[in-house]
Amino acid sequence: MTDIFHDIEKAEIEHRLQFDQLVEVLTSSMSHQALCQAADRVRSRFVGSDVYLRGLIEFSNRCQNNCLYCGLRKDNKRVKRYHLSIDEIVECAQIAKMYGYQTVVLQSGEDPVNEPYYPVDTMVQIIQKIKAFDLAVTLSLGEKTYEEYKAYKEAGADRYLLRIETTNKDLYHRLDPGMSWENRHRCLIDLRKLDYEVGSGVMVGLPGQTPEDIANDILFFKEMDFDMIGIGPFIPHPDTPLKNASRDHFELSLRAMALTRLLLPDINIPATTAMETLCPNGRVIALESGANVVMPNVTGIHRKHYEIYPNKAGSRGGSLILKEEVSRQILEIGRTIGTVKGFRGDFLGSQNHF
Ligand code: SAM
Ligand code: SF4
Repeated sequence: MTDIFHDIEKAEIEHRLQFDQLVEVLTSSMSHQALCQAADRVRSRFVGSDVYLRGLIEFSNRCQNNCLYCGLRKDNKRVKRYHLSIDEIVECAQIAKMYGYQTVVLQSGEDPVNEPYYPVDTMVQIIQKIKAFDLAVTLSLGEKTYEEYKAYKEAGADRYLLRIETTNKDLYHRLDPGMSWENRHRCLIDLRKLDYEVGSGVMVGLPGQTPEDIANDILFFKEMDFDMIGIGPFIPHPDTPLKNASRDHFELSLRAMALTRLLLPDINIPATTAMETLCPNGRVIALESGANVVMPNVTGIHRKHYEIYPNKAGSRGGSLILKEEVSRQILEIGRTIGTVKGFRGDFLGSQNHF
């Protein structure tokens, strides 16, 4: 056990751990507190006390895929499908701007390739209109071609979020029928080539996922040198094939997130909505265990239909209430609200292109 505490201390200084050490720390509840505190110190040292707020616009819940874990999967006929118009999306961005958020995240299900609601030129228009408000634009639209990613980048998109979901390829192919891990990986490489700030991440607690898989996920994040990593507990949705899976993954997700902070000290790490959903004070606990980003929802009335999993935190009250709640929580724990657009800590002083 002392070895585990020693490993955590070492990782705090050297930002490295071997695969076996990662597995040990991930599976040790005894060292949970020491790990989260170490991650909090590393966060403070590398990215400071600022918490960056990104306005999340969930602009369409239509999806061509059938991921077994997700409530928006194509075969779930109980979802009330919606997609916002260009003007509605731009209005949400305007609200985000009014609240003082400096980034918007445009997220959706994967638009059907055969009958797209948002063909490339539509997405380009949306990005250009939002950029006119001097907002940074993050996209999270799923897997696209190199040419599509290029068009979005040329229109002004700054960042792209695409979780790898799990680095266990067999597990990925079981949970994401009809999809290919290699293609998702290709997308991440393309995004990097196109000079996006690239965010990825995984779910923790997927049925069949082992601590060894999660250790490999963290080593993959380091190898790929991502700019942002989102780690959220998997929460079963009653209208999916994984409805009976267990949902008790908050602590393990927190440890995976804290270890990610130790190994990638200067990246952006969100306190994910899934963490807040599973644990009443989950957002604050995450912010005190390595996280430095929150993505409050600004979607408007449709947000309740973007039901990836049930009872999603922040999906009922208004976006202003959420903004106030999040701001209060940040200030109450002695943190500050970020006023530059939130970049990797080590580049914070020199970034001026957003
Ligand atoms: N469609 C895009 C994609 O898959 O990349 C973006 C939207 S998707 C809803 C965003 C993320 O939600 C996924 O990357 C996945 O990690 C997460 N997610 C989906 N179902 C979930 C569940 N049941 N519990 C927790 N997270 C989930
Ligand atoms: Fe669609 Fe993304 Fe949900 Fe998979 S995770 S079903 S791609 S919205």
